[in-house]
Amino acid sequence: MNYRDSQYCSPLQKIEIPLFKEKEVNVLVKRDDLMHHEVSGNKWRKLKLNIEEYQKGNYKNVITFGGAYSNHILATAKAGYDFNIPTIGIIRGEETLPLNPTLSRAKELGMQLKYISRAEYRTKNTTAFLKQLQGEYPDSYVIPEGGANLLGLLGCKKIVEEIEQDFDYILTDCGTGATLGGIALTLQPHQKAIGIPVLKGGEFILDEINTYYQKINQTNFNWESIQLKTNYHFGGYAKHTDELIDFMRWFYIQTGIKTDPVYTGKLFFALIDLVQKGYFSINSTIVVVHTGGLQGIEGFEKRKKLQIYPD
Ligand SMILES: *Cc1c(COP(=O)(O)O)cnc(C)c1O
Repeated sequence: MNYRDSQYCSPLQKIEIPLFKEKEVNVLVKRDDLMHHEVSGNKWRKLKLNIEEYQKGNYKNVITFGGAYSNHILATAKAGYDFNIPTIGIIRGEETLPLNPTLSRAKELGMQLKYISRAEYRTKNTTAFLKQLQGEYPDSYVIPEGGANLLGLLGCKKIVEEIEQDFDYILTDCGTGATLGGIALTLQPHQKAIGIPVLKGGEFILDEINTYYQKINQTNFNWESIQLKTNYHFGGYAKHTDELIDFMRWFYIQTGIKTDPVYTGKLFFALIDLVQKGYFSINSTIVVVHTGGLQGIEGFEKRKKLQIYPD
């Protein structure tokens, strides 16, 4: 079965390390990273309904946005290739040759890459910019950076819907909060969603989610069921420390699960830290969503001249 199959469910894997036994918690990992190496994790969850919407309309191509190492850019390129949809990626900043592994693969998959300055990139959601884009590429279906729109958020409900087992907490990392927003919509009253922002000042994520919820009239949403833990950003988006890299290596040795330095490394670091601090009640079951992003490791290693995992 592949990621495009409507029956596809990512595996739920129990992980056992001595700390979990000592603190009497059950930890299950929702392995969205195993869906596909390139259309990975929450990026496929967010693309799925957008692609269905594209197919319903009379569009000629998909346009989307991202940085040079973006998981979303590569996921869109690969999904476009598999669904026979022409894709255009608007990339932040100047072209750097040779292309990094993410962009070179996106190009190989047929994505047309267009570079714009960082200043122009900041205006990418304005009506003026979008109008200009539609002039240049008529009949385009535009997906925001990171796949973060309402259909993207709603696509993330499936992460929870696939889980048959009962649980008490579900943890995910957050960039825009669309994934957390979709997860939190699907919870039962006794369940809590915990978001780990990977950028500084992650408190804005609750406002983002609230804006989405207003669009779908979720006015009596119980905000007690969402918690953000904003101290695990390691300096900010795409920033890292030696402690984070050491943690990722340790976690890989303990569990056989690879994480990436931008998102999931910080997520699992938060998990271990919160368990250590006794945040979760005894005998509780915690689901951690491995949101993927492993494609970014190669580009990260080249850029930083370090090797995270042994060959
Ligand atoms: C994009 C991404 C996120 C952030 O998802 P949001 O819906 O924007 O919060 C988290 N993890 C990985 C691996 C990602 O690629």
